[in-house]
Amino acid sequence: MSKEYDVVVVGSGPAGYHAAIRCGQLGFKTACIEKWLNKEDKTVYGGTCLNVGCIPSKALLDTSHKYAEAHHDFETHGIKVSKVGIDVPAMIGRKDQVVKQLTQGVAGLFTANKVDGITGTGKVTGANSVVVTSHDGKQEELSAKHIIIAAGSVPIDIPPTPVDQETIVDSTGALEFQEVPKRLGVIGAGVIGLELGSVWARLGAEVVVLEAMDDFLPAVDRQIAKEAAKIFTKQGLDIKLGARVTGSKLGGKGTKKNVVVEYTDSDGDQKATFDKLIVAVGRKPYTVDLLDPSVGIELDERGFIKVNDQCATSVPSIYACGDVVRGPMLAHKGMEEGVMVAERLADKKTQVNYDLVPSVIYTHPEVAWVGKNEEELKAEGIEYNLGVFPFVANGRALAANDSDGMVKLIADANTDRILGCHVIGASAADLMQQVVIAMEFSASAEDLGLTMFSHPTLSEAVHEAALAANGHAIHIGNRRRRK
Ligand code: FAD
Ligand code: NAD
Repeated sequence: MSKEYDVVVVGSGPAGYHAAIRCGQLGFKTACIEKWLNKEDKTVYGGTCLNVGCIPSKALLDTSHKYAEAHHDFETHGIKVSKVGIDVPAMIGRKDQVVKQLTQGVAGLFTANKVDGITGTGKVTGANSVVVTSHDGKQEELSAKHIIIAAGSVPIDIPPTPVDQETIVDSTGALEFQEVPKRLGVIGAGVIGLELGSVWARLGAEVVVLEAMDDFLPAVDRQIAKEAAKIFTKQGLDIKLGARVTGSKLGGKGTKKNVVVEYTDSDGDQKATFDKLIVAVGRKPYTVDLLDPSVGIELDERGFIKVNDQCATSVPSIYACGDVVRGPMLAHKGMEEGVMVAERLADKKTQVNYDLVPSVIYTHPEVAWVGKNEEELKAEGIEYNLGVFPFVANGRALAANDSDGMVKLIADANTDRILGCHVIGASAADLMQQVVIAMEFSASAEDLGLTMFSHPTLSEAVHEAALAANGHAIHIGNRRRRK
């Protein structure tokens, strides 16, 4: 006999665990199936984000940033440190501890919200049934009034550089190096390439990033992307644009293993030798053996489960959310979708605002943006006012000796409604988030300008950019009106 639930969630990443917890809170009898095993072969919740994504990468970014500060910035502050070293296994061990604490936290939240965590691989076999195969091969059927699929995504492989997780690694392998590679190659100058490339560059690796596109960060506002390229290059990332990887050959032995990467760029055929190579060319939805074809769930041409704006699939009792469906592959987007689905099952009218999904690259300085950029507005023929405020004119940034970058705020030229915010700078993510809130409330640049900001804070740069959009920043800033 099958176990009966109101809701069965497949996958416990940010989308799945948020959906499951909210379902539990709303009084649904809920199960969440997870197949992820950690290094000790124990089931862990939290998916990519907690185990091999957002959290471990930020743990390494934070450690390597402190190391880089000790190396390059302490002296400016008058702090004398005789010798700064890095114990890579200790850094990785700390990262593992952070991951453990958070994944155990999700298990605790399941218990507190009466969600049954179920170990194994789930397969949707009917509109109301999921079969779970445990790691020892036993099968159990769960029946559910509603099914929420949150199976996430996995890294994309490319044929010229097959990942062996030793010399050629994906993002997961790049979180596990036991020593700093002398020469590190990164394929893809996207979010992962820049974040993980920065970690190892800060610790002393010579990093070469091979990017197939001719433009750097094409999704980012051009002015901000240009500034980012300048800063990252100064930090030691050798970013080669228009570099198409055609092949690779493993060489060397034992600890001296290496890989020769062949690529072509505007100068013709090239070769480069690396001790480690990270392949970071994007992720794809994970639906392998997840759906029995008889259920009738449709996939789009790129393999994403087709859903509408409320995350409903083509089968009325089945929803899907997070990386396995369309939209940016971001943890916070999946979380909000998971909560929306749970609340809709409880007849609430919750909706995700897909126009305001914030994006962040957690380098230092961070790059963060929300809403429209200048290029998009020009293409749409929307007239706008621009306020740009550089951190070099912000007292707190100067006090911290951390004044690279700027805040750029864009407002509609006719209504003054804020249309976008683009930041490169220390704590850019947190600064941009203030504007996300303002935009959710349809604020104007004048609204932000009339708001009192604490002094001295980095947030004052947001205030000044808003004032600049209306032509009256106090400390520099400027304003441009564009068609
Ligand atoms: P996942 O987190 O992928 O979770 C899916 C879960 O489903 C997994 O645990 C998987 O084991 C399980 N599963 C799949 N199929 C089955 C099945 N059949 N049965 C049982 N279980 C199954 N995003 C950000 O917003 N900010 C960041 O800073 C950030 N940093 C990142 C850094 C790296 C290195 C990487 C790789 C990603 C990063 N991301 C970041 C992206 C973020 O991790 C994903 O967008 C997010 O994890 C997607 O959540 P999800 O719940 O949809 O899927
Ligand atoms: P990405 O899409 O951000 O970047 C991939 C890059 O690789 C692109 O610039 C692309 O042009 C390039 N590329 C593709 N094929 C190539 C090839 N054959 N040779 C050279 N370059 C090639 O993908 P990613 O960095 O792998 O990240 C995957 C996903 O994870 C992203 O969707 C991102 O949203 C998410 N993520 C988010 C964060 C964050 O929010 N801070 C951090 C890490 C990952």
